[in-house]
Amino acid sequence: MTTKATKTDARGRVQPLFKLVCKECNTTFSGNARAVFCTPGHKRAFHQRNQKRGQVMMPLLLAWRGGRGQKETSKWAYGEMCRLADLWNAEDRAAGRAPQTAYAELKRRDYWTANDYHYNSERKDELK
Ligand SMILES: [Zn+2]
Repeated sequence: MTTKATKTDARGRVQPLFKLVCKECNTTFSGNARAVFCTPGHKRAFHQRNQKRGQVMMPLLLAWRGGRGQKETSKWAYGEMCRLADLWNAEDRAAGRAPQTAYAELKRRDYWTANDYHYNSERKDELK
């Protein structure tokens, strides 16, 4: 990520622009330091695809973890998760998408943890 240019925002403040790589289409674009996608459409496509994949993967993940990888169903779930991950990674490569590791790297760099998700979920419940 390097500073390329600047832009003036709606309040007249000069903002630096960074040269970034879109986590959907894997192409270079200019944006603020926290931008992840080159367009709102690519952000939507990325998250919609992951939501669909997550609906398939989540029961398998919980079954695998629930059996600690020891019980027969748990072992089966692990194998199916690996097959799906290989299939989806190949689909992403064939479509020219950025690897999911690029997105995960952003989360890791932001020190995101599962505890953050848990805390935010509880906060949302408190606000209802
Ligand atoms: Zn893009």
